Amino acid sequence: MAGFVTHLESAIDGTKLAADEVQTLHEGRPLWVRYDLDAIRERVNPETIARRSPTMWRYEELLPCSAAEAVTLGEGMTPLLSATRLGSAIGLNDLWIKDESQLPTGSFKSRGLGMAVSMAARFGLRRLAIPTAGNAGGALAAYGARVGAEVFVFMPEDTPVINQIECHLAGAKTFLVNGLINDCGRIVREGVESAGWFDFSTLKEPYRIEGKKTMGLELAEQFGWELPDAILYPTGGGTGLIGMWKAFAELQELGWLRTKKKPRMFAVQSDGCAPIVRAFENGERFAEVFEGAATCAAGIRVPVAVGDFMILDAVRESGGAAVSVCEDDIMGAVSRAISLEGISVCPEAAACVLAAKKLVVDGRLKADERTVIFNTGAVQKYPECAAVDLPRVDVGTAVDYAALTGIA
Ligand SMILES: *Cc1c(COP(=O)(O)O)cnc(C)c1O
Repeated sequence: MAGFVTHLESAIDGTKLAADEVQTLHEGRPLWVRYDLDAIRERVNPETIARRSPTMWRYEELLPCSAAEAVTLGEGMTPLLSATRLGSAIGLNDLWIKDESQLPTGSFKSRGLGMAVSMAARFGLRRLAIPTAGNAGGALAAYGARVGAEVFVFMPEDTPVINQIECHLAGAKTFLVNGLINDCGRIVREGVESAGWFDFSTLKEPYRIEGKKTMGLELAEQFGWELPDAILYPTGGGTGLIGMWKAFAELQELGWLRTKKKPRMFAVQSDGCAPIVRAFENGERFAEVFEGAATCAAGIRVPVAVGDFMILDAVRESGGAAVSVCEDDIMGAVSRAISLEGISVCPEAAACVLAAKKLVVDGRLKADERTVIFNTGAVQKYPECAAVDLPRVDVGTAVDYAALTGIA
């Protein structure tokens, strides 16, 4: 089914492009997928959607690909969990975590890549290549395996080992590069002609945004078609933030939202890699490459983003901000958040916890504002950063229970 897509539109200059052909970038910049929202309003409503299966494909009219046509591992409709204990620790009375750690391949990359692979399959693209900070490669490898496509993954050599293994096990041809993700991106781009693959880099094909958009659709549905006051999102390539902002605009135009107000969007980065924050603070629309990028939050170690202006436009339009947090505080925030909530909080989301606290202290986030943090992946994917030296118990000697419990 062709669905309700009318055309693709250049995000930089509004040029319209055909949706029934393979498209990549226009003038080096990403494309929006546009829909006939009037026709969608006639066809479907929130009550119909409420009766469907709990996956992201329940919103199929608002997606480029139908549920029937999808290459799927059951992604979507992740829990929206209240975080009362963490909230009170940082001064927020209405804090929520959208827990994406429970998705296939352990991160929210499964939304974007599930969608992009579904569309690649429709267009008969059989050889796919991706530069990755880790999780995007893992997700592409999994969906590629599911549909029998050939997948090539290029990742920095210090990418978390779990990502290396998951790509390899899913049959992707996986390579370690002694550089950063932008170096991997160049290798993929320059190989398009000779290797004959399709470049699956973030935002270089139009459909990943549509997969990530479902985070915004779910959030609206889970809150009864009302949106929160603030969203904190760990920002690398920015696909999710851009996608959610698009989702809110589409829902508003459909008339499905019960309130007019849209959330303030906060793009969160580590001070070890903060190109978007720097551009935001300098009042720029495009971000310069962040030299020497380094953070344990691998998913946001993205020194340059092709959709930088889309992130910055959304953040500014929403009345939010781009916020950086101290790299050295991130792993402490991981264990603090997990020990308070039991949620598998990844370093990227822990950066958002730190940012929330900073915004509360600054007075930019009020105690009673409904705030959502996106937990974009599972902490189990970061064995290197989370490594711990646990105390030992020796089977050969009497156990000193008073010492090990602290109870005299
Ligand atoms: C990719 C990734 C991010 C950044 O997502 P973008 O939408 O590209 O900004 C954040 N967290 C994790 C765990 C990721 O894998």
